[in-house]
Amino acid sequence: MSATILDGRAFADKWHKEAAASAAELKARTGVVPGLAVVLVGDNPASVSYVSAKERVCAKDGFLSRHIHLPEDVPEAELVRVVRELNDDPAMHGILVQLPLPRHIREDAVIDAISPEKDVDGFTPENVGRMILGRECFIPCTPNGIVRLLIDAGIETAGRHAVIIGRSNIVGRPLANLLTRKGPGGNATVTICHTATADLAVHARQADILVAAAGRAGTVTGDMIKPGAAVIDVGVNRIPDPSAPRGYRLVGDVDFNAAAERAAYITPVPGGVGPLTIAMLMRNTLIAAKRAAGLDFVS
Ligand code: NAD
Repeated sequence: MSATILDGRAFADKWHKEAAASAAELKARTGVVPGLAVVLVGDNPASVSYVSAKERVCAKDGFLSRHIHLPEDVPEAELVRVVRELNDDPAMHGILVQLPLPRHIREDAVIDAISPEKDVDGFTPENVGRMILGRECFIPCTPNGIVRLLIDAGIETAGRHAVIIGRSNIVGRPLANLLTRKGPGGNATVTICHTATADLAVHARQADILVAAAGRAGTVTGDMIKPGAAVIDVGVNRIPDPSAPRGYRLVGDVDFNAAAERAAYITPVPGGVGPLTIAMLMRNTLIAAKRAAGLDFVS
């Protein structure tokens, strides 16, 4: 293996320490303790584990957290009512509704109900629009974590070709926007690939920075990596594995061992992008709390 492994947990630990110090300072100055409300609908095992990870991190970083667990069959109107109640709760500065939601609930209706000032996921039309216009906003956590990782790891983006596999509103599209901004972690030339892309390998092989966010194991094979590329694997896929304690193991979208032979940098799964995402959620919640306390927006 020749690639340097980008240890997401180590980067995230550093960012959590900064967030915890900043939260303590905010409390000392203003009495405000950052608060994050996490709403979970149903018992999807992956969602349950993401939500409990977020709660653990809140406690560790000195944030308040409120967990609201609603049944799988909760009516959309009831979920919207809960979100609106949280909009009015002064102790909660950030609101996160864990996605995906059950099929009978329209995600758009729920996201639209979140106050843009508390939208720490950066999913509301207000925040997405502001991000595209380059205004102050909450930037979606996964793309924000990836850009900050590239900056902190010293991986140049300016003038380089980034290829993103996936066009979702939570990863691919916002990341493309951030990588093309002027400034640190930006100024890249970006290609977005998706399910209608004619020949994924042709594009992937041109990538100086390759981001895989397809949600399918084996999407990126070793021969699709340009030698010396930075490979960021966002995918989280459960693969049956009778020898694993839970009967499955987590893998990304990239064939890690083969890719690591050719790449200069690579993120592992687990322990790559996931921890960065949670660290950025804390950061956004801290920003929301600072704004509520009348301090400047610092993104
Ligand atoms: P999504 O299903 O909404 O989007 C997947 C995208 O990939 C789509 O735009 C689709 O067009 C594209 N795609 C799928 N197969 C493809 C192929 N073979 N070739 C080209 N494009 C293809 O998923 P999402 O919400 O963006 O998440 C993607 C993956 O990232 C999932 O595995 C998810 O669990 C993971 N994820 C991880 C984190 C984290 O913090 N680690 C955060 C968000 C998402």
